[in-house]
Amino acid sequence: MSSESTDASLPPAATNLPLKAPLQFCSIPEVAHQQQQERLRLLESVVVHANDSVIITEADPIQSPGPRILYVNDAFTRVTGYRAEEVLGKTPRILHGPKTDRATLAKIRLALQTWQPILVELVNYRKDRSEFWVELSIVPVADSTGWYTHWVAIQRDITERKLAEEEFRRQHLRRQVFADITLKIRQSLQLEDILQTTVDEIRQLLDADRVLIHNLQPDNTTWIVTESLQTGIPSLLGQTLPLELFPAEQRIFFNQGQVRVVPNLDTDEAPSQLKEFLQHFQVKARLVVPILQRDQLWGLLAVHQCTQPHQWLQADIELLQQLADQVGIALSQSQLLAAALESEQRFRAMANSAPVLLWMADIDGQLNFFNQSWLTFTGRTLKQELGQGWAEGVHADDYQYLIDTYSSAFQLRQSFQIENRLRRADGKYRWVLNTGTPRFHPDGSFAGYIGSCVDISDRKQAELKLLRALEQEKELNELKSRFISMTSHEFRTPLSTILASSELLEYYSHLWSDTEKQEHLKTIQIAVQHMIKMLDEVLMLGSAEAGKLSYRPTWFDLEGFCHTLVTQIQLSSTHHLVNLSFNCLMPKAYMDEKLLRHVLNNLLSNAIKYSPVGGVVLMEVSCDEQQMVFSVKDQGIGIPSADQCRLFETFHRAANVGTIPGTGLGLAIVKQCVDVMGGRITVASEVDVGTEFRVTLPLISSHLLPGV
Ligand code: ATP
Ligand code: MG
Repeated sequence: MSSESTDASLPPAATNLPLKAPLQFCSIPEVAHQQQQERLRLLESVVVHANDSVIITEADPIQSPGPRILYVNDAFTRVTGYRAEEVLGKTPRILHGPKTDRATLAKIRLALQTWQPILVELVNYRKDRSEFWVELSIVPVADSTGWYTHWVAIQRDITERKLAEEEFRRQHLRRQVFADITLKIRQSLQLEDILQTTVDEIRQLLDADRVLIHNLQPDNTTWIVTESLQTGIPSLLGQTLPLELFPAEQRIFFNQGQVRVVPNLDTDEAPSQLKEFLQHFQVKARLVVPILQRDQLWGLLAVHQCTQPHQWLQADIELLQQLADQVGIALSQSQLLAAALESEQRFRAMANSAPVLLWMADIDGQLNFFNQSWLTFTGRTLKQELGQGWAEGVHADDYQYLIDTYSSAFQLRQSFQIENRLRRADGKYRWVLNTGTPRFHPDGSFAGYIGSCVDISDRKQAELKLLRALEQEKELNELKSRFISMTSHEFRTPLSTILASSELLEYYSHLWSDTEKQEHLKTIQIAVQHMIKMLDEVLMLGSAEAGKLSYRPTWFDLEGFCHTLVTQIQLSSTHHLVNLSFNCLMPKAYMDEKLLRHVLNNLLSNAIKYSPVGGVVLMEVSCDEQQMVFSVKDQGIGIPSADQCRLFETFHRAANVGTIPGTGLGLAIVKQCVDVMGGRITVASEVDVGTEFRVTLPLISSHLLPGV
């Protein structure tokens, strides 16, 4: 029954296929013949009056031009509009048209070639070329000899069912398209993508020739920003529709959310200019819905059919309106995004140009932003600093305190401020004032932290200097008060002595012998010398503290020096025994003799002063290649341990000195001298047992210098 032609058809007998019908034929008597005629009439009347179209054709040719029609029933005429005489002798191909499925026709042809019955669904065309769907059943009919002689085709009109099915499919598709586009809008913030997807999907769904989106411009012209086209249809993309094509009444019409439904442009009452423009672009039917953004007309979504007029379905119109609404949402979303991006960019620009170091943390406390100033300061990349990376730059001594402060503030969503050291790009640590503040979204939910670090090293240093200056001033004040109390005490005694002796000399000298006068004069001299010694010490200390104590080493005979020193001390103190011993072969030394004398004199005179009458003082000298050690040991009153650490402070005297005179300056000067010589001094003492001072000095000996 196919109108498609391939090879010349083969008569049934020439094939190897089962050509025999299952019918058995035999000669029949007259009565039986009449009965059979009757049955045939009945059958014919069924066929004639059947609701389904019945077509009987010859058995062949199956290939072109196809078997000729021998019979059609009334139903055929009703359904197709063809009268019997119009189709008899023709082939069923007259019923086929552009939408008749070629594959189904091939299937039919194959069935006919093999003499198989077949049931298919097909689009046929009426005489007026309108389409209708049929369910087509074709069976071969054999003659009494078993040869297939005819085809009987029964066609049932299933257009309604097919339309219902199609409608169902389209409904499903509409839902799908709507869901797809909505999802796309939610997922994508790329407006261009969204608009393109929308027009593509709509075109596919409505089987349209052109779908486009106009954007209303500030001058009320419209500009076509997106388009989807069927091949062969001219493009309108990028066109601007001038005001005359989109007058004010149109804008008002669409601004009210109304839809323009034009099934046939030729009969439409559109303004002639617009009509001409559209016709120029082959538009036959169009459907236009407004795209509103926050109740303002943003543009239009238009669907064109360009081959023929088109009856727009209500469901399609509604879908288009819904999609236009979604596009409106997408537009608002993308505007919000653009605004957010703008503000983000502004923030970044501000943050990066700010002179302070800025950081931000997410809701888990992980640092997720550092401004350019931070990165420049640390000399590290953003990647290196992110997460926990920044911690590498924090000074090890400050790290734990910083983490503890940050963690506890974070738990409580509180601000914090801490001073910590942060490594600069040059490897130096700088003090920064680190401030963190929690951030919250407009709905009150926690959004993380934002913080800043300000370099306060200079301030810190200034603070430190100030603190030191204050301390120095305090020390100076203490020194002054100690000096005042010392002078008032220590100078008063010799001054009183001088005053008393001079008064006595003034009033009674005429009564005294020369020897008596000499004694008083001697007393005055001793008192004056004592004061001179004290003043010398004060002056020396003053110059030592001012860093003016000079170090002038010379080569001298250390052994001879020690002997002379001890002999002189022994001469001035007849109540004590001063011993000297050497634990090594004494080298010639390169030292400041004057400073060394000062040191040893002070230690020896202390040892004598704080020892009972008859006490033994031992000075021991030992050396190796690098250093000399001078030990001065006594068996005197000793020094309480509480005082031992303060012995070298000016004016400090131990609690157990009793009435033993002294200014507390001697050891302070000793310490300064030892420091200037690059040595060190230590003390070991026990109250009522004795004291040992050890002075260790670096040695440049003659052993080391050839020729000296
Ligand atoms: P001066 O300035 O006249 O020497 P001073 O002896 O009191 O006065 P320093 O020589 O500086 O001052 O000694 C400080 C203090 O250390 C002494 O007052 C004394 O308490 C303690 N001291 C120093 N040497 C000895 C020692 N060998 N035995 C016990 N106490 C000592
Ligand atoms: Mg002393």
